[in-house]
Parts: sequence; C-alpha cells; structure tokens
Amino acid sequence: MAGKAAQLGTPVRPRVGVLAFQGDAHAHLAALSACGAQACLLRRPDELDQLDGVVIPGGESTTIGALAQTFGVFDPLRERISAGMPVFGSCAGAILLASRITDGRPDQHCMAGIDMVVRRNAFGRQVNSFETWLHVAEITEPDSEPLLAVFIRAPWIEHVGADARVLARYDGKIVAVRQGDVLATAFHPEITGDHRVHQYFVDIVASRVPAA
Ligand code: GLN
Repeated sequence: MAGKAAQLGTPVRPRVGVLAFQGDAHAHLAALSACGAQACLLRRPDELDQLDGVVIPGGESTTIGALAQTFGVFDPLRERISAGMPVFGSCAGAILLASRITDGRPDQHCMAGIDMVVRRNAFGRQVNSFETWLHVAEITEPDSEPLLAVFIRAPWIEHVGADARVLARYDGKIVAVRQGDVLATAFHPEITGDHRVHQYFVDIVASRVPAA
C-alpha cells in the first residue's frame, strides 16, 4: 500500500540544505521543517548531491563566503545554482546571491544567482536595525496579512536585470526579488514564526523534484 500511496501523490518532502558556516542557520532549519521540507545543515561539497534546494542564511556575507571558499562549497554551490537548483538567500544570503556587490570588501565574491546589484549594509549599522509590516507579491496577496519583515544591518537591492521580478519594496528600495527559482530577501523571515516565505520557497523546490 505504501507504494500505492506514493503513486497517488504522497506530498513531496524536498531535501533542503542550509549553508551553515556562520549565521542563523538553525532558525531556517526550523522554518523549513515546519513547511514540510527535509532540512539539514550544509557544510561539505559532497552534501550538495543529496539536495533539491539550498538556503543561504543571514549572518555576515564576507565570513560566510570566505568559509564556503575554504571548505570547498562556494564553487560547487555556484555551479548548482547556475544549473537551476532552487536557492533562497536572506540578508547576507541575498548579498551572496548578487551578481555584483557595492560597499562589499574588495576580496568578496558572489554567486550571481540573480542578475542584481546589492548594496551591503545599505540600511545602516546594527543600531539602525528595524522591523516593519510588508506586503510581498506572490507571498502575501494584496488582501491578506502583511508579514513582519526584520532588517538587521540589511542590504537593499539597487538594480535588477530584466529577468528578475521585484516582489517587495520598502521606502522605495527593492527588498525581495525572484529570478527563476532563486529568491532573495533583504530581511529575515526565519525569525518571526511566520513561515509564508519559507513555504513559498519549499513549494518551488517541491515542484522541481522529479516524480519518483
Ligand atoms: N551586513 C551583513 C553582511 O554584509 C548582513 C547582515 C545580516 O545578514 N543580517 O553580510
């Protein structure tokens, strides 16, 4: 009967890895699990082979990027993303998904998951962190509840290419973008207990898992 259930459409539980060198990986792990994903930490390049999607958490983009290089994950991850693997980056993760970073460190690299220019620390330093209610296209429809968006030393997105869809702006600045199956938010949806952004991402990943 188990096989039959599978044929009849057992919900797909996509395998999503959270890059876990630095930053708030565990908050993403909990949010992804709550949305039905099989979530695990990602630290080694060979672990990428087991994954249907990846989350790059917030934290410090220079540190996450440097450690990903040191541990040999940076280039294989960039290659998987360019081959079409779904990925979601929040805050520092969004910076790492840029095609160009402004106000980054000169030796800082990014993965070009989305054709976008991201300005690091654009909303200011730690003391300028803030939260606000935000509508995010495709996630909070106009007549539903806005979500609480937490900005911590947050970047904004200064420019997007023609293939990217702007999902949200705050104060005129782009703060959420999707291009293909790559999603980036300047804010931290993993720490509010509202899992709609993660559900949106997990649904993208599940839709790309080939039928067994
Ligand atoms: N300003 C940080 C960076 O450059 C990002 C902050 C965050 O992820 N909360 O990586």
